[in-house]
Amino acid sequence: MKRFYISTPIYYINAEPSAGSACTTVAADVVARLHRQLDDEVFFLTGTDEHGEKVAQEAAKAQLTPIQFCDSIAPKFIQAWKLLNISHNFFIRTTDPQHKKIVSEFLQKIFDKGDIYKDKYEGWYCSGCEAFKTEKELVDNHCPLHPPEKTVWKSEDNWFFKLSKYVPEIIKLLENNESNYIFPESKRVEVLAKLKAGVNDISVSRENVAWGIPAPWDKSQTIYVWIDALINYYSATQFLENKREFWPADLHLLGKEILWFHAVIWQAMLMSAELPLPKKIYVHDFYTIDGQKMSKSLGNTIPPKEMVDLFGVDGARYLIITSFPNDGDVDIGIERFKEKYNADLANNLGNLLSRVCKLGEGLVVPESPVDKENFIQLVNQLKLSEAVDWVLENFIDKSNNLLNQVEPWKLSVDDSKRVEVLTECASNLLKAADCLEPVIPEASEKIKERLSGKIKVLETALFPRIKQND
Ligand SMILES: [Zn+2]
Repeated sequence: MKRFYISTPIYYINAEPSAGSACTTVAADVVARLHRQLDDEVFFLTGTDEHGEKVAQEAAKAQLTPIQFCDSIAPKFIQAWKLLNISHNFFIRTTDPQHKKIVSEFLQKIFDKGDIYKDKYEGWYCSGCEAFKTEKELVDNHCPLHPPEKTVWKSEDNWFFKLSKYVPEIIKLLENNESNYIFPESKRVEVLAKLKAGVNDISVSRENVAWGIPAPWDKSQTIYVWIDALINYYSATQFLENKREFWPADLHLLGKEILWFHAVIWQAMLMSAELPLPKKIYVHDFYTIDGQKMSKSLGNTIPPKEMVDLFGVDGARYLIITSFPNDGDVDIGIERFKEKYNADLANNLGNLLSRVCKLGEGLVVPESPVDKENFIQLVNQLKLSEAVDWVLENFIDKSNNLLNQVEPWKLSVDDSKRVEVLTECASNLLKAADCLEPVIPEASEKIKERLSGKIKVLETALFPRIKQND
């Protein structure tokens, strides 16, 4: 049995689940489910990132202690993933004492090796990003991602990690196309260019942030939240005894805003700790909503719950996957989601199933295994909407065309042409269900239940039509 370890980022707990975090999580779920279908032993990890200044500030605003605040938000993520039928094997929280212990050990090892040293840090710091910014990254003297007042000049004694020491090795790794370790290609090129432009060492501790894991060699400082967070991918495999052999990860799935941390800093930390590197990092772009960047302040995020209420679990999953921004941003919107849902699921797939069940009741469907190598490859490359389109074209559109051509409802019940066409359509539906099981697990189950062996009556529509605003 092959092992397969896939992770989503752990989501920062200062905001609730959004379409953005749902996008990464549902995509990871599809890949994880596909690998389970192929009989791999899968470890699928997700969780929440709970330390840092911003969390402490949010907690204070809510008049809670930081841990009370985290305890109130983490269940919202767990709940959202349950709603979306996410099949993760473990949900890690960075406030877990076992994670904290592994973080301390990991960093102590790097410290003992001489890769961490003390220095004064001075620079522009964005408290929105919780990161120091280079002059080049600033626009009009402030971080372009956050309001101007978030960018402040900071000067403090910090512990630094010798990131620059590992840069040549990372460049070598990225230049070796064979390894294909960051994809898509555009992102590999982007990281390589930034590495070649020169990289400074980074500070890995904070002097005045109490809400964090104390540096094991200097309790007056806490570990920078990003460093603590990255280690989750490794720590989860270490404190879950039976998951120990899963490291290194086969695939880290993430959004482009955190590419640098994963592609460079995390790699260097692992090199320093003398641990194997993750095999692949896949980076997706963003959703925009009706042409605008999605943000809490604009109030235009689409919470997963809203999508599930409107489209059902499988409908929501389908829409997230078919608009997955695998290479370039993708604009989404509720009205377009409704159109897509009605066209693909209610009319195309759902209607085909209704027709086949109604006209073909009692017919025996011969078993015919599906050749889905193409589908598997597309999913492994995260070309998710292409993968779904391949299934629709090859099995669903083809069957609908066949029905419209032959018009079996005009033929007598025992007409051989009628029997042939309906069993072929049923068999195509079963093949589609087998492929799409990782995307729409419940609907696939229902299709199999209605068509396996003999065609049975369908009591309720697989995907009821949704009213659109015209
Ligand atoms: Zn910022």
